[in-house]
Amino acid sequence: MSPLLDVRELSVAYGLPPQGVEAVHRLSFQVDEGETVGLVGESGSGKSTALMGVLRVLPPPGVITRGSVRFDGREVLDMDEAELRAWRWREVSLVPQSALNALNPMLTVGQHVADTLRAHGVRDRAEIGRRGQELLALVDIDSVHLDSHPHTLSGGMRQRVALALALALEPRLVIMDEPTTALDVVVEREILQRIVHLQEQRGFAVLFITHDLNLLLELADRVGVLYSGRLAEMAPASALRQGGRHPYAQGLLAAMPTAFGEREPISIPGAPPDLRDPPSGCRFHPRCPHLTERCRAEEPVLRALSAGHTTACHLLEQP
Ligand code: ATP
Ligand code: SF4
Ligand code: MG
Repeated sequence: MSPLLDVRELSVAYGLPPQGVEAVHRLSFQVDEGETVGLVGESGSGKSTALMGVLRVLPPPGVITRGSVRFDGREVLDMDEAELRAWRWREVSLVPQSALNALNPMLTVGQHVADTLRAHGVRDRAEIGRRGQELLALVDIDSVHLDSHPHTLSGGMRQRVALALALALEPRLVIMDEPTTALDVVVEREILQRIVHLQEQRGFAVLFITHDLNLLLELADRVGVLYSGRLAEMAPASALRQGGRHPYAQGLLAAMPTAFGEREPISIPGAPPDLRDPPSGCRFHPRCPHLTERCRAEEPVLRALSAGHTTACHLLEQP
């Protein structure tokens, strides 16, 4: 069975050389129907750029410089504007990092729902009203809030409204860009439980982007670890829970606090590279405890360690 989303060798730059920077480099990953795939990485690692490339909503001067994005076998990079409009929301939707920025302060929640449905051909007012009530019920918000404006709602409620809107047309894939990062832990947990529950009910796939590896190890089936726009490791969450293989993934795992404080978190020394002047060879080499001369000279490529588990590290190359 072919994957629902199949991203191959996707590269994205902001501006073209010599001034431009490449924020995503030859990124490949797949999401199967109903599956939850996570992408994790530090700030600036290219998570949002990757998903904006997939959705073809890159702000200028962002440009896709190579690769392919197939959705259910169709090439997204070849779609015209009309095809993209039909594809987005109906088949794939986005829950953005900050619902406050994504929601229009002048419109009520009900008007947001109505606009989304109308843009995709639902015209009947009674039908729109009924669907609005159903959608709010899905995310556990009282239907009186169809008349509320976004700024009168709490941060958690706004994120739940954004989730409801993302589900309005029953898409097969929901992309979530740090949807709970701005929320406190209790509200975050409630929303994550809601997502898992809805996914079980409705069977959509999720591509979840975050800097919180702990969260992905709980939520995702498979996790990709991004460093400087490149995949360092892609593995089943169960394999990462037992300790990653790539030194950067291991560093992220060691930096995570444990539930009962069994050990002190150890942060990775140094900072992610400046894309305008990246290190030679392996981009992680200035921070890597296992660095060799080869690492400074040669960029490692992604290779399979086992079925569904790949890494890009000279140390881990099989003979
Ligand atoms: P965060 O966790 O902070 O959201 P991220 O992993 O989503 O980070 P991106 O926002 O995708 O990272 O940024 C990747 C790189 O691209 C960063 O180095 C960033 O500075 C650069 N970048 C992002 N947007 C632009 C832009 N409009 N013009 C130039 N460079 C940009
Ligand atoms: Fe470290 Fe070298 Fe592996 Fe890069 S290639 S992660 S520098 S050991
Ligand atoms: Mg981001």
